[in-house]
Amino acid sequence: MLKHNMDQVEEEICKACERSGRSRDLVTLIAVSKTKPVEVLQEAYNLGVRVFGENKVQELSEKSEALPDDIHWHMIGHLQTNKVKYIIDKVDLIHSVDSFRLAETIEREAAKRNLTANILIEVNVAGEESKFGIKPEETLDFVYKLSELPHICVKGLMTIAPFVENQEENRPIFARLRKLSVDIERKNIHNTTMGILSMGMTNDYQTAIEEGATMIRVGTGIFGARDVYPGQTNVR
Ligand SMILES: *Cc1c(COP(=O)(O)O)cnc(C)c1O
Repeated sequence: MLKHNMDQVEEEICKACERSGRSRDLVTLIAVSKTKPVEVLQEAYNLGVRVFGENKVQELSEKSEALPDDIHWHMIGHLQTNKVKYIIDKVDLIHSVDSFRLAETIEREAAKRNLTANILIEVNVAGEESKFGIKPEETLDFVYKLSELPHICVKGLMTIAPFVENQEENRPIFARLRKLSVDIERKNIHNTTMGILSMGMTNDYQTAIEEGATMIRVGTGIFGARDVYPGQTNVR
């Protein structure tokens, strides 16, 4: 089943790249493995997956301990400041920086370990109340503030679009994030590049690719419906 799903996602990625005249190798597929047990990740690894996304600190830590060293781990979920220290040296990229307080904590923990943390800024393009993220109009100022932190390297922007039946509805959101990244790139800000646009999930990654996504985060499209943690009913 995993192989079948992965082949299908790969085919859709290629088609979306073709439609938009983009090269397939400009798009990184992040396999979002949250709630899935280590054995399932190992199976995906055996099929060639090397980039996994997780949204919980403890889960990411445990899985990265248990699985091979050549995996690239991405923290895609909301990150609490008191947990930064557990993952700072385990992840390639933190997708979800949405406050200066969090950035300062990442700076401090990265400095302690003499490393540079690669991060994306989460932007709440859709303006949904329930979502984390910086407002689009505040993003540039936020980038300027982050550029003062020497152990943080801003690599681009991330957004979570609303759940919609028809992914066309999210096209303006992806286009807006892309425009924002182009506008910020033009300012040539110290410590900052806008090479990464992390947008698109199972329900809308094709449209996201057409609008310039360089990273897509696909969970259920690869692994099927999420597992439920013991004692939990809400799997989001
Ligand atoms: C869970 C999650 C995804 C993957 O969602 P699917 O709809 O299952 O593809 C992508 N990004 C973030 C931030 C997530 O939390």
